[in-house]
Amino acid sequence: MTVTVLGTRGSVPVCGEKYRIFGSATSCIRVVAHDSGRDEGSSAKESGKGDAAQVEELYLDAGNGIVGAEALPHSHISILFTHMHIDHLLGLPFFKPLSEKGRRLDMYAAPREGLSISEAMDRLFSPPYWPLGIGAYPADTYMHYLDKSFDLGAVHIDTLEVQHPGGSSAFRLSFKDMSLVYLTDFEHTGADMEKVRNFVKDTDLLIYDGQYSLEEYDKCRGYGHSVPEVALELLSGTGFKKLLFTHHAPDHDDSFLLKWEEKIKKSCPIASFARAGEVIEIG
Ligand SMILES: [Zn+2]
Ligand SMILES: [Zn+2]
Repeated sequence: MTVTVLGTRGSVPVCGEKYRIFGSATSCIRVVAHDSGRDEGSSAKESGKGDAAQVEELYLDAGNGIVGAEALPHSHISILFTHMHIDHLLGLPFFKPLSEKGRRLDMYAAPREGLSISEAMDRLFSPPYWPLGIGAYPADTYMHYLDKSFDLGAVHIDTLEVQHPGGSSAFRLSFKDMSLVYLTDFEHTGADMEKVRNFVKDTDLLIYDGQYSLEEYDKCRGYGHSVPEVALELLSGTGFKKLLFTHHAPDHDDSFLLKWEEKIKKSCPIASFARAGEVIEIG
């Protein structure tokens, strides 16, 4: 499973040289699940047997980190949305595969504030806010209700509803014996932490909301975000193998995050702050 960090920023995109290391674009993670033992050249088409493994290409959120993502030519693309806040959607109209005729895209999200995924999308991507609805792009798009548990090819997805204004979904992706948990836009206060601890248990890679410092959190309770130091305490003993904090606050520039990361690593050497462009191979 190959994981690429495409967008790390929370709330709003930023720009400038001081964001070069950790990134300026909002939330998006790309996951490609492929059978590394199989020669990609020996496809079903060539063998004529129709038994080749489908390459699953998943995007977790579509903040503007998704802009410029190069999708594989024959993969099955799915986009899973944690929720419908604009920082998690704003790159979608610029996702290249949407403009490819004959390309199929499946999108999944839980209903939010009484709106299904297609109703929420239509509300945002329509005049006068945007000239074109997502359904008007050349690709074939299919919007789906997010089930608690489902399969995309050989990738199994479990979801968990977590604490955030208006709600947010956490995802656990399992492929063969590998797993990844994406848990952002989540606040520990009032959350059922036992459920969260079970959800992240023994995962290979945990990508977790790290928006606020301890000092900032005092002024931002109820905004729906977490604190790395608190997360390390609450998740202690859950057995994750690697931890990336993401959804960086807009004013957390490279020098701020580098200093903070150094401190975090002293208590948890397998934790770091997500960097745009970072690629993690699992398995
Ligand atoms: Zn967000
Ligand atoms: Zn949010």
